[in-house]
Amino acid sequence: MAGQKMLKFVSRGRQSPDKRSAAERSEDFDEIYQAFAAVKAEEQASRCSQCGVPFCQTHCPLHNNIPDWLMLTAEGRLEEAYELSQATNTFPEVCGRVCPQDRLCEGNCVVEFSGHGAITIGAVEKYVTETAWEKGWVQPPKPRGAERSESIGIIGAGPAGLAAAERLRRKGFQVVVYDRHDRAGGLLTYGIPGFKLEKHVVARRIESFEEAGIVFRLNCEIGKDVSFADLRSRHDAVLIATGVYQARDLGGPGSGLPGVEKALDYLIASNRKSFGDAVPEFDEGRLDAEGKHVLVVGGGDTAMDCVRTAIRQGASSVRCLYRRDRENMPGSQREVANAEEEGVIFEWLCAPRAFSGESRVTAMKAVRMRLGEPGPDGRRSPEEAPGSEFLLEADLVVKALGFDPENLPQLWDAPDLETTRWGTVKADFRSKMTNLPGVFAAGDIMRGASLVVWAIRDGREAADAITAYVDQRALAAGMAAE
Ligand SMILES: Cc1cc2nc3c(=O)[nH]c(=O)nc-3n(C[C@H](O)[C@H](O)[C@H](O)COP(=O)(O)OP(=O)(O)OC[C@H]3O[C@@H](n4cnc5c(N)ncnc54)[C@H](O)[C@@H]3O)c2cc1C
Ligand code: SF4
Repeated sequence: MAGQKMLKFVSRGRQSPDKRSAAERSEDFDEIYQAFAAVKAEEQASRCSQCGVPFCQTHCPLHNNIPDWLMLTAEGRLEEAYELSQATNTFPEVCGRVCPQDRLCEGNCVVEFSGHGAITIGAVEKYVTETAWEKGWVQPPKPRGAERSESIGIIGAGPAGLAAAERLRRKGFQVVVYDRHDRAGGLLTYGIPGFKLEKHVVARRIESFEEAGIVFRLNCEIGKDVSFADLRSRHDAVLIATGVYQARDLGGPGSGLPGVEKALDYLIASNRKSFGDAVPEFDEGRLDAEGKHVLVVGGGDTAMDCVRTAIRQGASSVRCLYRRDRENMPGSQREVANAEEEGVIFEWLCAPRAFSGESRVTAMKAVRMRLGEPGPDGRRSPEEAPGSEFLLEADLVVKALGFDPENLPQLWDAPDLETTRWGTVKADFRSKMTNLPGVFAAGDIMRGASLVVWAIRDGREAADAITAYVDQRALAAGMAAE
């Protein structure tokens, strides 16, 4: 039973790990939150009420067994806490850092509902897993039983592809992961900036996957370097986990001027610089915000990452324009607060209309918006306030309006591959199989731009579905041979 260690939420308040001061953290790309000390992690975990119906667990996409690993942490039984936590999550140290906990586990914590402040679930998850790495409890995902001869090809080394790779390798399959980038990790490596997720955290996982025998074929773009048909013939099953990369455009007069840039180009360049790579577009100034007046358009996580990157690059001013208000923005409120502390100015209810400049952008014409009647999705749609035009100085404009899927059937010369009307790859909700036999899909390319934790869940489920498919085929072949 939970015993005296738990239920301390009445006497102990919620405390997050310390955050570095805005002045200090604006100077580098290191994570902004410090680690919990052991005593603090135990103390915070002991606030859990061990309630009968843990809504935190229900609202975690991985259904992590949160109350149990909180109790084990409170009791100092960290190795057991880690074992339990990693049983449902391939990257607990990543989720502890980047999940929007306020919308998932912590937002549904019963202690939060009672007005005492949610348990700091994400921070404890990070602490437990970091301790596991330190103590050497994290082992490469080697096969638990015999090696299997069947080979699985995974397109995309983001969290969906990697989660599937780990689970399939543990089952003994020969796993090959293909990625067009030179480093694995997908958006964990090249999208999300280091101040949210330091890159060594991703790299050490990938190293342990390699040690377990997972093969990475990097700088290899399916549809260009290897055809999709060829890939299918090489493997017993294929998983499409390519994410969504087609940036939505701003449009409007002048939106094609140099200096109006795509969010991911900007973030990838910054992440590459942090790796020490030569990045001509950055070195020549195109994707470097230093000394510039920067306008970022959008209200999601990507926009928040862009504004905070610009601050760290030494921009003269950084403004974020979003057409709805603060309450209706899709990005995390925690990240908005962090950005404000670092000096970002938010222009709520504001939208761009045109861009001007001779050889490159120098100004944006913007308008004020107001919220009208709720649309079919229940959200009040923004409409332009008449006569509200105004000018903003701009040396760099970053478009962070979200992403759509690339046209895979066309790019891969695979017209039979079914997609949805949004362009995502159509896969059976449960089996994750597409309409092509032996071809599965997971992560953003299947569900649309989403979250790391959902990509992990999809990847794990796809791995189980692939195993069932390969087993059934082997069984059918055996029966036919008899
Ligand atoms: C800037 C930014 C910040 C974000 N911040 C957060 C956050 O804080 N918290 C959160 O939970 N989520 C966040 N997200 C969302 C999250 O990163 C994604 O939902 C998640 O990474 C999706 O995982 P995935 O494996 O499906 O795709 P990805 O991570 O996109 O990985 C797909 C991989 O496929 C590769 N690929 C694509 N096409 C091919 C091809 N033809 N051949 C070979 N390889 C190919 C790509 O190079 C890439 O490595 C953020 C997203 C962005 C863009
Ligand atoms: S994986 Fe995300 S949602 Fe689930 S417990 Fe961890 S931080 Fe919360």
